[in-house]
Amino acid sequence: MASATPVRVRFCPSPTGNPHVGLVRTALFNWAFARHHGGTFVFRIEDTDAARDSEESYEQLLDAMRWLGFDWDEGPEIGGPHAPYRQSQRMDIYQDIARKLLDAGYAYPCYCTTEELDARREAARAAGKPSGYDGTCRTLTAEQKQAYEAEGRSHIVRFRMPDEATTYTDLVRGEITVQPENVTDYGIVRANGAPLYTLVNPVDDALMEITHVLRGEDLLSSTPRQIALYKALIELGVAKAIPQFGHLPYVMGEGNKKLSKRDPQASLNLYRERGFLPEGLLNYLSLLGWSFSADQDVFSIEEMVAKFDLADVNSNPARFDLKKAESINADHIRRLDVKTFADACAPWLKAPHANWAPEDFDQAAWEAIAPHAQTRLTVLSDITANVDFLFLDRPVQDEASWNKAMKEGSDALLRTAREKLEAADWSSPESLKEAVLAAGEVHGLKLGKAQAPVRVAVTGRTVGLPLFESLEILGRERTLARIDAALAKLAA
Ligand code: GLU
Ligand code: ZN
Repeated sequence: MASATPVRVRFCPSPTGNPHVGLVRTALFNWAFARHHGGTFVFRIEDTDAARDSEESYEQLLDAMRWLGFDWDEGPEIGGPHAPYRQSQRMDIYQDIARKLLDAGYAYPCYCTTEELDARREAARAAGKPSGYDGTCRTLTAEQKQAYEAEGRSHIVRFRMPDEATTYTDLVRGEITVQPENVTDYGIVRANGAPLYTLVNPVDDALMEITHVLRGEDLLSSTPRQIALYKALIELGVAKAIPQFGHLPYVMGEGNKKLSKRDPQASLNLYRERGFLPEGLLNYLSLLGWSFSADQDVFSIEEMVAKFDLADVNSNPARFDLKKAESINADHIRRLDVKTFADACAPWLKAPHANWAPEDFDQAAWEAIAPHAQTRLTVLSDITANVDFLFLDRPVQDEASWNKAMKEGSDALLRTAREKLEAADWSSPESLKEAVLAAGEVHGLKLGKAQAPVRVAVTGRTVGLPLFESLEILGRERTLARIDAALAKLAA
């Protein structure tokens, strides 16, 4: 499929709410395809629906793209040869093209009212006939149009579909043929003059010389319409060629239902807030419909780009699996160098995510504990609970953890552990471990049982990072003081 034409793809979301993972997958496949082929990644904002689009969503989209690391070659803020890249700023272009389509007869004014359309659709359905637009206004004479105008009727602009089947080769799904009765004439401009997605999307793809349209399967049904419109645009000299289309498979969520935008699991913000790394999330999302290799599913974005090929995109629905996403993210956390990991945790270690005062944060202690945290976290937001014992004056007071660890005899064990720890060599975690081991022996307890009350006394929690490294970093004085406080509480 080598071609002389350089690859130009586009990602063209509508700014209508928080970005969702399906959208991110579409952006990723387009971006990776462009980068793989040394092509151009165009970022365009489809904001022609004034009622649903918002400036806030626009800002969120840009912010999401930056966080994900998708650099665009043309688009908002950077411009490019086909600027502007916000459709709300391109209305003159669409009006001009709608006019050309009308003048050349590729489109026509349709005066049917919604009530008339509904009534005829009902009747067609009742008679078992196709229920798309029936072509009533296809052949209106000048007099008929004038009469409608005189009646005060408004009109939309409708594109005239050719009366023949459309066949094209989808890059993912193979050859597709659609019969004309299944794709009837469709609206391209509203009665108030506002151009519709059906017009602006292919017009911009044509003007921006897009070579490959990669998008979700939900848009499959618009493709035959767009191909017909393209043919008209080519006749009019507006378009050069019809792009190739590839429809990415549906993403299924819980209960094997299509993951919907409104599904909380679908929100990109959720993954950002939980502390997914962009590379971890993208690695996971790339597997929704594509595979890297039979025996490897953790890889870097560079590795993905090097291997990305549409021939490996599968048309079967992909299942969104949160556990798998988390496990891949954990692998990416392990792959960071420790400094990068420490920096990536910074947003959670500083207020407002943290449960300690900002001035109590201790950079040296954080750097000492970071390598131990890095081998255990699944998502970065878990860092707070794992290290808060270092920055709080006293550990979190969690009754459930306390009751779980503090048993009959825990006070005696803690007293012995305190003695042994006081006498231990604090320059290595090994000798702290020996101290607790020895205290356990005195009371007939294995290490696991002996360390549980020590852990809760010192960190407030029953689970956490390796205990003896944690004690060493917390320091002798603070460790002993916390054991004293726990003994006092047990005695009260
Ligand atoms: N703005 C459209 C959407 O977000 C883009 C459709 C397309 O990729 O053609 O659904
Ligand atoms: Zn009509």
